[in-house]
Amino acid sequence: MEEYEQAKNILKTLSFVVSYESLAGISTEQFDDFESVFYKIDEEYIYLFKPYRPLLVENSSIGFVDSYYAAYQTLYSVKERVKSAFAEKNVQVYPCLLPYKGLMVSKKIGSLLRNTLVFVKPFGTFFCVEILSFREKQEKIAASEEVCEDCDKCIRFCPTGAIAQTAKGFRVERCIRFWQNGILPVSVSDEDRRAIGNKVLGCNICQLVCPLNKNISEKAINPDADYNALFNLETFAVNCMSKKEFKENYGSVFGNNYIRPTRAFSFVLNAMINDGKEKYQKIIDLLKSGQNEQIKKMLEELEEI
Ligand code: SF4
Ligand code: SF4
Repeated sequence: MEEYEQAKNILKTLSFVVSYESLAGISTEQFDDFESVFYKIDEEYIYLFKPYRPLLVENSSIGFVDSYYAAYQTLYSVKERVKSAFAEKNVQVYPCLLPYKGLMVSKKIGSLLRNTLVFVKPFGTFFCVEILSFREKQEKIAASEEVCEDCDKCIRFCPTGAIAQTAKGFRVERCIRFWQNGILPVSVSDEDRRAIGNKVLGCNICQLVCPLNKNISEKAINPDADYNALFNLETFAVNCMSKKEFKENYGSVFGNNYIRPTRAFSFVLNAMINDGKEKYQKIIDLLKSGQNEQIKKMLEELEEI
């Protein structure tokens, strides 16, 4: 297939991507390159993987934002550069319309786990992926079966009981990441609010406890002073008041559309409450005096708690 051969040759010349094949034989234990974006290509698809180190944020006054989101920003821009390189040589590619996880499993690139994530060696589940296709129309794929057998660790550790015995039984509406994609924490029970804790965007508990990820989880990092200053709950809450500040300070992490300031704000408030509402009363009062109607509404709801 002509496009495939051409794309393969172009990818080899790009300095900002590394062949996934170069990782052959490297185990998760040995893997240590969290900076590169790796590509894999077959006659139908091009896969771009960006592995990342998980974060550990144990201090509740720091808002936890999973490093997945920052990694995804990098991956997105690399994907755009790859597309431009193809366009320059008239190689036509299309967005992959199939569910990425199902496709990777059906292609035997990864295995589906009970927590509905896909494990890809040597990244574990700590990676983001983008897929391009040589075909505009893509054939459907069969449903995947998960591989977890004698293990129930993620079921036991998930703070909201989202994970079931089978991936099919996963209760997405119980997952913190699902809540973060839409439902405000003001509408969840006190118990669930405590489970959300300081998680502003992301929850990686089921990944960190997974024995298959052991070697990558051991490389998890405690965020540095810059992160702590940026995601300090008060700083974060104040930045959420202005779209401009939010974009300037967090654009490289969230992207410009991924999360709206008001949505982030609702999770910051939740984290503040969990860390001690009184401690933050002053800032809550300040925010309350602001003009943003949605923020005011959220604060009024909080008053009722
Ligand atoms: S991301 Fe968090 S809430 Fe969602 S399934 Fe995993 S541990 Fe549970
Ligand atoms: S913790 Fe156990 S059950 Fe859960 S995804 Fe990992 S291997 Fe599977």
